[in-house]
Amino acid sequence: MEVIEKQTENSLQEKLISLVDKISIASVQDKKNLIKKNDFLLLLQNKDLIFDYTRNKANQIRQENFSNKIYIRALIEISNYCKNACFYCGINCKNQNIQRYRLSTEQIMECCKTAYELGFRTFVLQGGEDIFFTDEIICKLIKSIKEKYPDCAITLSLGEKSKESYALYKQAGADRYLLREETANSEHYQKLHPKNMNHKNRLECLRSLKNLGFQTGAGFMVGSPFQTLDDIAQDLCFIQSLKPEMVGIGPFIPHEQTEFAKFPSGDLNLTLFILSLIRIMFPKVLLPATTALSSINPEGRILGILSGANVVMPNVSPMEQRKNYALYNNKASVNEESAEGLILLQKQLDKINCKIDFSRGDYQQ
Ligand code: SF4
Repeated sequence: MEVIEKQTENSLQEKLISLVDKISIASVQDKKNLIKKNDFLLLLQNKDLIFDYTRNKANQIRQENFSNKIYIRALIEISNYCKNACFYCGINCKNQNIQRYRLSTEQIMECCKTAYELGFRTFVLQGGEDIFFTDEIICKLIKSIKEKYPDCAITLSLGEKSKESYALYKQAGADRYLLREETANSEHYQKLHPKNMNHKNRLECLRSLKNLGFQTGAGFMVGSPFQTLDDIAQDLCFIQSLKPEMVGIGPFIPHEQTEFAKFPSGDLNLTLFILSLIRIMFPKVLLPATTALSSINPEGRILGILSGANVVMPNVSPMEQRKNYALYNNKASVNEESAEGLILLQKQLDKINCKIDFSRGDYQQ
């Protein structure tokens, strides 16, 4: 009996390995060979059988494409005001228990200066959907940064805007835009967001960003409330067809002042496995080892890199504001997760024979 079970397991494992091998940019370019949702689902359901194989392959692809370089981005959290009430987010507008802040242009420029002197050549301006930051203010800010630091890239992560607004940011000089779809399943989306937020619009924003020529970042949380493996398979199909230049994948972590406070965090191994699938799918993609990954496991970032990630985003926001930008609890923002910790970060990377790359680190075709 045991022998038969072992044989069945072996033949399933062989099938899974050939599926993993099929997930490559070549198959993505050929529409006929796109990986089907059921195949992604099969991989997710049986990840333990091919966990090591998949991660090793992803790590090897990362090395082939980026050698031992890990790109760094300076994360500047410009505002924790937000007009939205996403159920999972600690800075959602319903949360009365946090101290709100908004950085001034001078403070943001000061963060850029600090980051530039430390060697960063990408600034990531991230914030809630804060109505104070009109298109005019954002464009002025982008232009000031570009004028002062023409050799740097600007990534924006400021939420859903109109196509016209995105076009203005592009004209002003922004290079990249991060907007996670959070889930490709509209029913799941409605369980994570209030009724006034529209899933169709979110996906439309991502397509607009791609059409405008932004290096576009999509992605989702692993283990968000009510998420099923089927939802994740759908997300992987969505990402496969969108072909983003960046993908942000991190575990869900609950925030105690949200209605999802009692839900468990996302699973570390499932997150690592999905990172690996993304790397295999898109060998050149810019794939961060996210702060959330470091927040659920002290080795999270290194494990992320060994699963195919090639970007780290240390925090350069003013120290006194970092605790207020808590999208979830126990967020890592000091030591290796902070700009001041670059030496610590390098020491950590030394252990896996990687090194910080101080270039802009644009997406290369
Ligand atoms: S996830 Fe983004 S849009 Fe939603 S409440 Fe938080 S900051 Fe606002």
